[in-house]
Amino acid sequence: MAVARSSTVTLYGPGEKVLLTMNRQTVQKLLLAHFRITRSAGTQAELLIVEGDEPNAFAAMINGRRMIAINIAMIKLIGENIDEFAGLLGHEAAHWAMGHADSSKVRSSTIQGISTLVGVGLGVAGIPAAGIITGLSADLIEASYSRDNEREADALSIDYMLANGFDPQGAVQLQEKMLKLPVGLKVPFLGTHPSGQERVENLKRLIGAKQEKAGVAE
Ligand SMILES: [Zn+2]
Repeated sequence: MAVARSSTVTLYGPGEKVLLTMNRQTVQKLLLAHFRITRSAGTQAELLIVEGDEPNAFAAMINGRRMIAINIAMIKLIGENIDEFAGLLGHEAAHWAMGHADSSKVRSSTIQGISTLVGVGLGVAGIPAAGIITGLSADLIEASYSRDNEREADALSIDYMLANGFDPQGAVQLQEKMLKLPVGLKVPFLGTHPSGQERVENLKRLIGAKQEKAGVAE
C-alpha cells in the first residue's frame, strides 16, 4: 500500500495487482468512522477491504480474527459519502455487538463459501494492519442471519450514527442506491436482507422516531 505524501492510497493484492485506489482523505474518514462506530457498538473488529464485483459487506470471523469486510464494488458504489459508509459499518458492527456473527452456524457456512476473497486490512492512517489475506471464503456469511437479526442491525446502526454525528439518512441513501442497481445484478447484501423497499421504509421510520425522541430529551 502506498502511503507517503500521495493524495491517494492504493491497495495491492497478491502479485502487486492494484485492487483499488482511494482518496487518502476518504480512507482516513472511513477509518475514523470505523473506530467511532465500533466503539459505540462496544465491539472490536478489524476493517478489511476484499475483492468483489457485486456490492457486498459482512461481519465475520476470518482466519480467527473478528472482521468487518467491505468489498471493492461496495466502496466504489459509496464513493466519498462518509454517512453511507457509517451506515454500512454500523450495520456490520451491530452484527458483532449482538453476537449474530459469532454463532457456529455462521462459521460453518463460511467454509462452504463459493468464491475466494482477497483482502487488505486497513489500520491507522491507511497503513495495512492485517496485511494481505488470501484464500478466504465468505460469500454466504450474510445469508445466515435471520431477518430479525437484520432489522435489529439496521436499528442499531441508526443509534451508532446519531451518537457520532453522522447523518442517518446515509443509511437510506445507500439502500436507495442499491435498489437502483441494474436488474439482474445479484447483490448478496441486498438479496439476503429484508427486501430493499421494505428496508428503506423501516429505516426512514426508525430515523424519524429516534430523532423525535432525541429532540424531546434535549
Ligand atoms: Zn446484515
